[in-house]
Amino acid sequence: LSDKLSGIFDKLTRRGSLTEADVEEALREVRRALLDADVALDVVRSFSDKVQNRAVGANVIKSISPGQMVIKIVNDVLVETLGETAEPLNTEERPPVIIMMVGLQGAGKTTTTAKIAKRLKERNKKRVLMASLDVKRPAAQEQLAILGRQVEVDTLPIVPNQTPLQIARRAAEAARLEGYDVVLLDTAGRTHIDEPLMQEMADIKSYASPHEILLVADALTGQDAVNLAKNFDARVGITGIVLTRMDGDGRGGAALSMRHVTGKPIKLIATGEKMDALDEFAPKRIADRILGMGDIVALVEKAAATIDQQEAERAAMRMAKGKFDLQDLCDQLAMAEKMGGLTGIMGLLPGVAKMKDQLASANIDDRIIKRQRAIILSMTPKERRNPDILKASRKRRIAAGSGVKVEEINKLLKQHRGMADLMKSMGGANKRGGGLMGRA
Ligand code: GDP
Ligand code: MG
Repeated sequence: LSDKLSGIFDKLTRRGSLTEADVEEALREVRRALLDADVALDVVRSFSDKVQNRAVGANVIKSISPGQMVIKIVNDVLVETLGETAEPLNTEERPPVIIMMVGLQGAGKTTTTAKIAKRLKERNKKRVLMASLDVKRPAAQEQLAILGRQVEVDTLPIVPNQTPLQIARRAAEAARLEGYDVVLLDTAGRTHIDEPLMQEMADIKSYASPHEILLVADALTGQDAVNLAKNFDARVGITGIVLTRMDGDGRGGAALSMRHVTGKPIKLIATGEKMDALDEFAPKRIADRILGMGDIVALVEKAAATIDQQEAERAAMRMAKGKFDLQDLCDQLAMAEKMGGLTGIMGLLPGVAKMKDQLASANIDDRIIKRQRAIILSMTPKERRNPDILKASRKRRIAAGSGVKVEEINKLLKQHRGMADLMKSMGGANKRGGGLMGRA
């Protein structure tokens, strides 16, 4: 499949921008790959529409083929849809934090409950209590108790003939009285979604008011994933998804389906029966696995790095000439987010090591990068080229537009002035040094 894809992407000839036909041809194969990965049909359709919208008309950067551009866009949209960053469990509320596990029978709820308990105990130093509300399956409560002993986490003592709500009440009381930080409620599942199951989950939810409701789903869930996620979310209101059996052959297309229809984050990935087999969700890795085109993704990344390199070189060239306006700063900030710090880009300039301290004192910091970009993006292109024309009234407008105080704009302008001066002096030095760009 991958070979076939490379073939098609190679066929896309080099043009100024991607045409509808280019993109459609590439997307035919992408759709097939997604279906092979068990992504639900509706999701495949709307995903490929999203890619199409983004891709048609997109510029093809010189030295990068249109095919590579399409791959980059497919990959980007996939990672975006999956959720760019891992979202942690919400465990920092006032204790006891209640986490409720829901899902079909055999999805891995009980196993995952114990894995999460172990993780919260070991990594987050939480006092954890587990309780099984599964009164349907014989020995379901014993199963959790056995796992509890294995991971050395307390389980609520078993009292026969109680309803799930009675067990939930005992768990809440025990947590309050005995000072547990987190209570994990493992619930009963069924082989398929039905009304009694949904009603039971809804009742437990309104009774226990959990901080997290995690839908546990098998990564091998195919076309059913959409129905499953939609139903649980509509009736119970999930806060996150745990995908199990990612150690199997499945490519995990269910991740895309469920995320797409619920918008809820995939929080954890289970990769085996052992109690340590639980990972944070890594969107890039899962995207790779769903697309099933590792080699092409590697190509994409190389292509993206090339773009960054070219942009960086262009920026370095302007800097060397002593030109550094707010637009340049804005571009740099965007790149800094990607490349891990402004020093990464500045590193392209010879002799920059000497400036490290000055750069550090310029206080470029991840937290403020986003805000600073917002400020610059609120300015007109003319203002970006020549910030000296900014009057107090415009600054107030820009402050309002970007959600910051005027002082912050002044600080940014001062910082930019400092940097521009530095660039200028460096540009001069390099001229004397005999040509910077010859070395880049
Ligand atoms: P529940 O009915 O949702 O509570 O599911 P269980 O937790 O009882 O799990 C059902 C079976 O799946 C057990 O044999 C587990 O060991 C197994 N299982 C759970 N998670 C995983 C996983 O991530 N990978 C593999 N290979 N097996 C798992
Ligand atoms: Mg169970």
